[in-house]
Amino acid sequence: MIIETINTWNGEKFELVISSDGFCFCPVCGEKSNNKEWRPYDKTGLPSYDICSCGFEYGFDDSGVPPYENSWNNYRQKWLNNEIDQYFGKRKTKEEKIDQLKNIGL
Ligand SMILES: [Zn+2]
Repeated sequence: MIIETINTWNGEKFELVISSDGFCFCPVCGEKSNNKEWRPYDKTGLPSYDICSCGFEYGFDDSGVPPYENSWNNYRQKWLNNEIDQYFGKRKTKEEKIDQLKNIGL
């Protein structure tokens, strides 16, 4: 597990978890990206506006830049409890979700 620390333009700081083979995990749900270059935020914390299969839109659901008001954690709890309408990807069971979160050390 590799940690990338992002120092944002507005003086915040957060971490992204990268797999040992170089792919970034979604900081909300732990899903592994399928593109090595992909990051949810750039080096200054500006969002990609991509939407993960967990439904989280970087730059929208975090109101701009994380860790804005615990947006990742709050969203993650809703996702775990199936309170998110999911339009992308395969629906996962709670066990699969919990297992996936191990990717980001949760
Ligand atoms: Zn996600």
